[in-house]
Amino acid sequence: MERPIRQRVLVFLKGGIGDVVFSLPLLGDLRAGFPDAELVGLSHDQGADVLRYAPALDTVRATGPMSARGTVREALAALGPGRFDVALTPVRSWRAAWLLLRSGARVRVGFGGGPERLLLTHAAPVRPFEVVFSRRFERLAAALGLPTGAPGRLEVPAPARAEAERRLAALGRTAARRLVALHVGGGWPTKRWPREHCAELTRRLAARGAQVMLVGGPGDRASARDLAGAAPPGAVVDRTGAAVADTLAELSLASAAVGIDSGLSHAGVALGVPTLLLFGPNDPASISPVAHARLVTQPLSCRPCNRAGKERCPEGHHRCMRDTDPAQVLSALEALAPLRPEVTGR
Ligand code: SF4
Repeated sequence: MERPIRQRVLVFLKGGIGDVVFSLPLLGDLRAGFPDAELVGLSHDQGADVLRYAPALDTVRATGPMSARGTVREALAALGPGRFDVALTPVRSWRAAWLLLRSGARVRVGFGGGPERLLLTHAAPVRPFEVVFSRRFERLAAALGLPTGAPGRLEVPAPARAEAERRLAALGRTAARRLVALHVGGGWPTKRWPREHCAELTRRLAARGAQVMLVGGPGDRASARDLAGAAPPGAVVDRTGAAVADTLAELSLASAAVGIDSGLSHAGVALGVPTLLLFGPNDPASISPVAHARLVTQPLSCRPCNRAGKERCPEGHHRCMRDTDPAQVLSALEALAPLRPEVTGR
């Protein structure tokens, strides 16, 4: 007897790591809506590093570095042979819609704001724009008539976790100490927590017997080196600049994380890590509340001043992040994921 041909569904994602993380609920909706289909995720290398831990996907393909402006031909080559039945993308561009068409999919779904609408069979509304990011992306599932509301989840398989444990041990990780991840950088300067606050929190965590794993991109390495140099011996494991897939596997081992409004921090939340998110200029309403994450903000009339972040504080004082002091963060962390009492004389 002939086996039925399995449907194939393509999701093309671009943007920063955060954009890929915020697409996870959409992937969950598609998994529920197409339970027997092969669900394929296509993104740049860093996005693919996130997607390889998305339980909703069967297959992940990468198009090259995030910074490269790849062609549709290269994206099709990354996908390999075989046509798709359904293709979706939250990317609003003619090129992305052209990729969906060239994938062979008869059903093509995107946002309907520009001329690319001509290449789509189903269009989701672009507005209202000021909504929770992940809920905006799930409009693509709704445009197909699918139920929405799946949680955004990432899971690191046991072999990758074991490998991550070995990597950290080689860098001085001590299994008996609690591991707290700290995101030291981030894209927009106004989103960042001051370095001196990071240093003080690291010292206080070390005094409670924890080890601090510094995470961030290649641009955060100099900062992380300074922090590690000023920390008590053995207090810090510096993983800034590591590959995104490695960072996420290592993040999944942390008992708690302190982050900012960044893709890595939101990925930590999707991994289920108890996470404090220090929000300065950004709107807390842009993310979905989950039980294991808490927002720390300051009661300032100027905030939020921007959805994505800015180069400089328009008020000149940057109090939205400066006023979030290490003592406040430590006490919020204690409430979320209790640590040991401070050890004096360490
Ligand atoms: S204006 Fe206010 S919210 Fe915006 S960066 Fe400055 S302190 Fe932060």
